[in-house]
Amino acid sequence: MPFTDIIGQEEPKRQIRTALAHETIGHAYLFWGDDGIGKRLTAMRFAQALSCDAVPSSAQPDSCGDCRACELIASAAHPDFLIIEPEREKAHPQIKIDQVREIERHMIYRPLLSMRKICVIDDVDRLTVSAANALLKTLEDPPEHSLFILVTSQPYRLPATVRSRCLALRFSPTTSAQCEGLLALRRAMPPEDARFLSQVCGNRIGVALEMDLTRLRHQHDQFLQCCQSDTLAHPTAILQRAEAVSKTQPFPDVLDWLAHGLRDLLLIRLGASPTLILHQAHHALLQQCVQDSDLADLFSLLESLHTLEQAPHRNLNLQLCLENFLFHVHRTIHRHAA
Ligand SMILES: [Zn+2]
Repeated sequence: MPFTDIIGQEEPKRQIRTALAHETIGHAYLFWGDDGIGKRLTAMRFAQALSCDAVPSSAQPDSCGDCRACELIASAAHPDFLIIEPEREKAHPQIKIDQVREIERHMIYRPLLSMRKICVIDDVDRLTVSAANALLKTLEDPPEHSLFILVTSQPYRLPATVRSRCLALRFSPTTSAQCEGLLALRRAMPPEDARFLSQVCGNRIGVALEMDLTRLRHQHDQFLQCCQSDTLAHPTAILQRAEAVSKTQPFPDVLDWLAHGLRDLLLIRLGASPTLILHQAHHALLQQCVQDSDLADLFSLLESLHTLEQAPHRNLNLQLCLENFLFHVHRTIHRHAA
């Protein structure tokens, strides 16, 4: 499977292909951008291109995806390839110093089969302080034959000293058309579902491919009940909905839905194209809610949402915080609603 199976990411792919074609590959790369958009997949393809047994064309360096070397890398069993990641099942996954020592032991020997000894570190922002310091020493004086690919969605959490040792390649979400097209192809979805899923996932293909659509639709219906004008008109209804939602949905999901709703309100108030709106079916009602509202009031809802996001870190009662937020929405938009 060559680079062409990575949707979008034209600029990082171009830079990698140029480096492969001109044999100007650096010792360390930092692949950064949102989760679920193809950074790790691109790192695997990069490693395969450096190890593939089928001779790649120099004009279009790539990997075949089928040879023994490509398969060994795909299953992380290639002797010149190492992938390191945090222990994801833990509450606070970390990459520890022992794992960096493993990297050092792996990288010091010359490659057996490949052109390079390759190490991919996924979620590299999870390095502990001591692990980051140890990795920095290796990056400052990398073995001649080594290639490090650091992958992260939160590059600012990495020490600047580590970042500065890497060539940074930025990854971006795909376009909505690319994401919807792939969903229709891989998950055989009707266009309406593909559009909904793409929008909710912010066009992050990796996330959209894995997402449970039935669960998402159910959550969304609950959220819509919470934000209907007749709920927001009555304080007792707000309290009931806030209780129902906070008991049945994980708090981060509730925040996501509120953010989607608020985003729609702002877009409509600013006169954006209806195609950008998630709740297109409710466009008329949302329009009614915000048409006379003050932009400053809507932005103050954003601040309020930010406060709500902080609630779990401050040990606050989530249901109470959600009620407060919904009352703020009620005060801001209900007087304009039907
Ligand atoms: Zn191959």
